[in-house]
Amino acid sequence: MTEQPSGLFKTAIKDPAVRLAALGGALAGAILVLVVVMLSGGGHKDTTAAVQYPPAQQGQVAEIVAPAPRHVTQSATAPEMAAPEAAPVPDSYPTLSVARVEELEPAAPGLPETPPAAAEQPQAPDLAVMTPLPKAAPPPLAAKPMIAIVIDDMGVDQRRSARAMKLPAKVTLSFLPYARDLKKQAAEAVALGHEIMLHVAMEPESSEADPGPNVLLTGTPEAELLANLRWNLDQMTGYQGINNHMGSRFTRDLAGMRVVMGELKARGLFFLDSVTSRDSVGAKTAREAGVPYATRDVFIDHKDDEAFVHRQLVRVETEARKHGIAIAIAHPRDITLRALKTWLTKVQAEGFELVGVSRVLHRPASAQTGLSGTSG
Ligand SMILES: [Zn+2]
Repeated sequence: MTEQPSGLFKTAIKDPAVRLAALGGALAGAILVLVVVMLSGGGHKDTTAAVQYPPAQQGQVAEIVAPAPRHVTQSATAPEMAAPEAAPVPDSYPTLSVARVEELEPAAPGLPETPPAAAEQPQAPDLAVMTPLPKAAPPPLAAKPMIAIVIDDMGVDQRRSARAMKLPAKVTLSFLPYARDLKKQAAEAVALGHEIMLHVAMEPESSEADPGPNVLLTGTPEAELLANLRWNLDQMTGYQGINNHMGSRFTRDLAGMRVVMGELKARGLFFLDSVTSRDSVGAKTAREAGVPYATRDVFIDHKDDEAFVHRQLVRVETEARKHGIAIAIAHPRDITLRALKTWLTKVQAEGFELVGVSRVLHRPASAQTGLSGTSG
């Protein structure tokens, strides 16, 4: 009995009723805990679902993925981009495209140019018969490379001019309007099979150079400028175009050159830009006015030196091979004439075609009907 309390405890545990109650309490507690755990666990799951990391991450993934194909694409196109650089052919025809027929430009002077163009139309038919200018563009690279040799400053030094006429191949001879016996000399050149042009004096940059009488000057009132130009153009007949004598100042003058082009258009003449100034607006104003034009590629003898002249002639060949066409300007000088005499024969034997400048013109679309091929 000394074990009273323990004895009592034992007795209580041993009591079936107490044991059952204890078991039921424990079971109920366990169920409660389980329910709480399940509830809280489920709540946690719901919260995670509500945060929705995956969609956000998917968005990020999508964004990250996108640049990758771009890199792939770039590296794939890089070789393609390099390929055109390796073939610089299109770039080498910037000003002297082989196809000489040009797109019609929406040029402003279309309006004032209309009356002169209409005035020419009666002339066009019979003149077209007289001077059958090639309407088709010159054949491109596959054909013979063409060379147009222009000898200008013709007519004043009659002895050397006569020697130029006797060169053993077709060249283009451009005569100064104030040369003595101009018409007689020009007729002789034509009879010998050469193309002739008029070499119109235009204002040079240097005031020391004497360009001759009735030179076209910048800042001249239009009526006076036109009168000077017409005096020049009227000194000779039977030519199809002009080129500028000197003119490093005048050919940069937009207003003055527009007056010139208006008159050339009216007369159906072409313009060969001698390019005595890098900033010449000759080609630009010719295109605007619908005047057929060409630009000089090589000066052969601006140094009166034999080795220099030979080097320039080689440049002419190189240009012609490269572009299909080369236009060179020379002068009636002893060294030049001697060099040309053998060179003209040589280049023909080598497969170059010597042509007059009228064969290698850029023809603005608006000039197609206007080119009558003669002068007043
Ligand atoms: Zn000249």
